Amino acid sequence: MSSSIRRTLWSAFAFLTVLVITGLALNLAVLQSESRQESRVVRGYGPLIEATQTMDESIGEMISSARGYTISRRSEFQQQHADAVREFKKARATAEGVASSVSDQTTIRRLVELYNDILPHTSAQIEFADQGRLAEAQEEMSSAAAIRRKAPDYAGMLADNERRLQLAAGETLAARRQWLTLLLIVTSLGVIIVAAYAVSRIEQSLVRSINRQVHRTQEMIAGMPDGVMLVDGEGRVIFINPAGQQLLGRSAIGVPIEQQPESYGLEVEGGRTMDPRELPAAQALATGKPVRDTTMFVRREDDKRIAISMSAMPLQEENRTTGVIVTFRDITERRRLEEEMQLQAERAQTIADAGAFFASNIDPVWVTQAIAERVAEALGDWAAVILKSPESSELRVAAIYHREMASLGLAWSYIYRQPLTVGEGIIGQVVASGYPSLTSNPSGTSSSPDAYHSVQMRLSSLLILPLRTRREMLGALVVAAHDPERQMNDQKLPLAEVLAERAALAIENAKLYTEQVEARRKVEDLSRLKDEFLSIASHELRTPVTSIKGYTQLAKTLIKENDLATSEEYLDVALDQIDRMSRLILELLDVSRIETGRLDIRREPIQWSTFVRDVVHRHHTAVSDRRFHLDVPDDDKVVNGDRDRLEQVLGNLLENAVKYSPDGSDIMVHVDSDDGRIVTSVRDRGIGIPSDELNQVFERFHRGRQVSSTNYGGLGLGLYITKQIIERHGGTIWVESREGQGTSFYFSIPEALMPAAAKTA
Ligand code: ADP
Repeated sequence: MSSSIRRTLWSAFAFLTVLVITGLALNLAVLQSESRQESRVVRGYGPLIEATQTMDESIGEMISSARGYTISRRSEFQQQHADAVREFKKARATAEGVASSVSDQTTIRRLVELYNDILPHTSAQIEFADQGRLAEAQEEMSSAAAIRRKAPDYAGMLADNERRLQLAAGETLAARRQWLTLLLIVTSLGVIIVAAYAVSRIEQSLVRSINRQVHRTQEMIAGMPDGVMLVDGEGRVIFINPAGQQLLGRSAIGVPIEQQPESYGLEVEGGRTMDPRELPAAQALATGKPVRDTTMFVRREDDKRIAISMSAMPLQEENRTTGVIVTFRDITERRRLEEEMQLQAERAQTIADAGAFFASNIDPVWVTQAIAERVAEALGDWAAVILKSPESSELRVAAIYHREMASLGLAWSYIYRQPLTVGEGIIGQVVASGYPSLTSNPSGTSSSPDAYHSVQMRLSSLLILPLRTRREMLGALVVAAHDPERQMNDQKLPLAEVLAERAALAIENAKLYTEQVEARRKVEDLSRLKDEFLSIASHELRTPVTSIKGYTQLAKTLIKENDLATSEEYLDVALDQIDRMSRLILELLDVSRIETGRLDIRREPIQWSTFVRDVVHRHHTAVSDRRFHLDVPDDDKVVNGDRDRLEQVLGNLLENAVKYSPDGSDIMVHVDSDDGRIVTSVRDRGIGIPSDELNQVFERFHRGRQVSSTNYGGLGLGLYITKQIIERHGGTIWVESREGQGTSFYFSIPEALMPAAAKTA
């Protein structure tokens, strides 16, 4: 109860109490004054009349006792007279004490005067009788009797007077009682009116206070963000707040409970219309117990479907459920967030699982197959990993997986129908652009009526994601779905992208691992080559030293013996060996320069045809047992380069051609120009190079496996140095060869655009 009501009630109670007490006090006072008045009337006249009568009788007694004495002269009459006198005095004292009115006092005074008049006569009569003077006594007696006779009846008068007075008093009292009754009636009426007024004031105040409370409660309910509905004992909706109306999209007041699911469009999770008995209000009405947080869906008139959570609280009165307060709120957003979180958690799990699974092995074949499997299981029906060739724009299928093994062939057919080249077709475009592509019903858009677009082949969605790391584009991940339930959409795209990212990382890791293994193998090969080189180098250097020493010693002996011709021959051989040695040393020096970046190239214009003819000529002179064929144009094309180094290049190729071809065979030198570049080739008909060694001939320390150091000297450095020199001239070198048939080395260098003056120089 509110404090204002309590205050009003208490003040009304206090007011009524004061009123009642006042009324009672008033009544009591009136009654008291009334009874006082009555007792005064009764008590006041009784003793007075008695006393006056006694006075009157005492006078009579005085006269009769005096007469008795006169006649009989008996002393008891004398005594009787004295008693009467005493009685009179006593009664007189009493009467004077009681008399209040003037008339009463006058009556008493008259009686006293009468007594005073008679007493001398009776006293004298007794004296005369005592003296025997009877006549005189008789005379006195007659006088006394005469006085008495003449005197009025004072006691009677007083009694009459008293009767009159009593009558008058009775009338006054009756009149007063009437007045009092009237007053009481008026007072009571006043009390009743005041009480009625107070009650009406209290009622008004209570009504106001209750109205205020109701208004406040209504405002509160109206302002509540939750829907509030009041259902009566029969299950009829009697109130619904604005938020509730908005949530339900309608205000159906008065709808009975069994019609509520229908008219409010209430559904359960699966989309079925709710059974009225499932309604929280119905349950609360039936059981009298609160029902909390029942989730349901409202199919609103605007066809929006929102999720609500509804609770019902029964209202009990004397152990009877008289109604239910139903509260409900929109939980669409909360459910969406919960579902989103659930999805996120599942995604995180899928990603974590997939990441861990991809990373659990580094074999590239295993990794790509694992990716296809995991992706197809997580999204879509089948998946394929397409990888780009590092050298060309070719794409190859590294792995493919279908959730149903029997349908794997269909997936293969689909992929092989695509042009597997970067930039071409849907897959090639994703690899070229790096942007994912998501198509719905891709088969449906095709108009070709072939077998692959049969019902089984038809895809509901096709997602192609780039497989890319920070360093490079690896290829693409294809995710396809037949089943519309597993169709890919924009919501699934982020998960697919993260999976593709993880897949790319796993592929890169596997690749890096393979590269690492390869690099380690190369390092091992290199160290093996170095070991071999050391043994070859020591052999190659020791061999000429031994022969130089041998031939010079022989020459020395022959000079002593004066065989100068033979000794000169031996010294030539020693000089040849020295040349060979110095060549080897120069090669080693060049390698060291290349490795340390100190291979300097000087630039000067060189008329190429002339230059080639000169170099070949010098070699031809040195090696006479080979047939050199020159096919050099007679033009004045110029290259800008280091004359010594380029001679080293050509010389090296010519030496190899001589070294690896049989005596007397042909060696062809050809110069041609093509698109601003001059291409020079040296061809022999020698032992040739095995095809698997072709791309190793330019590596350091590489020596062909059929080239033993006993037959063919060398350190495997010439072609390496040659390639480095060519590349430093902005050129390229390549080889074509057939084992046992011969070898052609080609190198191209840019033609210099020389001013006319320089050309003629
Ligand atoms: P070297 O000749 O000193 O061994 P090179 O670097 O010049 O070193 O040559 C490397 C290897 O290439 C040779 O060992 C040989 O196996 C092969 N080779 C080079 N030129 C020819 C050629 N004209 N014919 C056949 N094999 C050749």
